[in-house]
Amino acid sequence: MRFNRRDFLAATGAALLPLSAAPVVAADSSTLPVVRWRLASSFPKSLDTIYGAAETLSKRVAALTGGVFAAGDLVPGLQVLDAVGNGTAECGHSAGYYYVGKNLALAFDTAVPFGLTARQQNAWMYAGGGLELLRKLYAKYGVLQFPGGNTGTQMGGWFRNEIKSLADLKGLKMRIPGLGGKVMARLGAVPQTLPGGDIYPALERGALDAAEWVGPYDDEKLGFQKIAKHYYYPGWWEGGPQLSFYVNQASWRALPESYRQAFEVATAEANQLMLAQYDAKNPPALLRLVGQGVKLHPYPKDVMLAARRATFELYEEEAKINPDFAAIYRP
Ligand code: CA
Repeated sequence: MRFNRRDFLAATGAALLPLSAAPVVAADSSTLPVVRWRLASSFPKSLDTIYGAAETLSKRVAALTGGVFAAGDLVPGLQVLDAVGNGTAECGHSAGYYYVGKNLALAFDTAVPFGLTARQQNAWMYAGGGLELLRKLYAKYGVLQFPGGNTGTQMGGWFRNEIKSLADLKGLKMRIPGLGGKVMARLGAVPQTLPGGDIYPALERGALDAAEWVGPYDDEKLGFQKIAKHYYYPGWWEGGPQLSFYVNQASWRALPESYRQAFEVATAEANQLMLAQYDAKNPPALLRLVGQGVKLHPYPKDVMLAARRATFELYEEEAKINPDFAAIYRP
């Protein structure tokens, strides 16, 4: 099936609407096929930073291939890996550590407690063998993965009440995904994994006592400062969390080589641009939050020391029982 560019845009206009967005890689040359892809995002559309990486990718791939490519929330935020793996969507934008329930090793694709900064994560992924290790792991889920943005070091979350010592974490219901959540559980908290869009209502109705999301710019948009006034640092579980683009393996194999190149180069651009956005936008947002009466606190020293100890105990235990984890933790 072939469209010239004008007909193609008209035919896919409806697909650009939210909720039913249909990413498309298309070409108007006589030798390249029209390819339609849908991208499932794990992130709220209101966040230009984190959701924006999918739009960066869409626009660049469209410009490079002459087609249209848009992103949308096609499936619930925490089901993107399954959706891409089984072909419900051809590609997705998500975070590996949302899926530690499948395999704890997937957290290395995002961030692990007391792990890498953004710069170190990029070094590991692009030049240190990380991408190859993680692609072996993702192949088990039918997915090819590309680094897809980094938030930089995150904040340590919002708390309704001040945390004065380790004892204050006991029984605290906190939204914190990935291995950070598992360490928090060892410190006595009750971790929950909720997608970004669901956190504010849970905090508001008291289903959560605390929540972490990203950092000042995104957190301000989601409005946590209206409910919880105590804002902690550092986000010791996310020194440089990377987001990822997922592509269904069969869909990737079916792509012409020039489209693969366009897609890959656009993911690298989106990866870099997201970090730049956060680094530029977070400092003024933090000042605005403090101006609204938010109180900044470092985590108490006993919390930091206990967290570090619990983290490395967890890694040692997991490496003994999970060969995928061991292969990355001790390559
Ligand atoms: Ca976070």
